[in-house]
Amino acid sequence: MRSCRTTDERLFAFVDGLDSGLDDHVAGCDECQQFLAELWSGELAGDLSEPVMRTIRFDEFLASAARLGIDIAVAMARALVEYGPQSDIGEAGE
Ligand SMILES: [Zn+2]
Repeated sequence: MRSCRTTDERLFAFVDGLDSGLDDHVAGCDECQQFLAELWSGELAGDLSEPVMRTIRFDEFLASAARLGIDIAVAMARALVEYGPQSDIGEAGE
């Protein structure tokens, strides 16, 4: 669990646009940005059961990230370095 205590569930809700209350936090939290980058880097590289939905979510997430001023490219690069595109992120998925 990340030290800021934001749960995976809240971050998934944020990604889905259900929890806009996290906007300010995510914009300033390296751990949450890293989680989101890991989530997307893993999902984009993995076996997607809902590729269309996930693509929509990703687009929305990028729009949110851009609006918040998050440098998602940096966050994703950081996650890729740390976890790698082939890593198992099952803990985050279920
Ligand atoms: Zn956080």
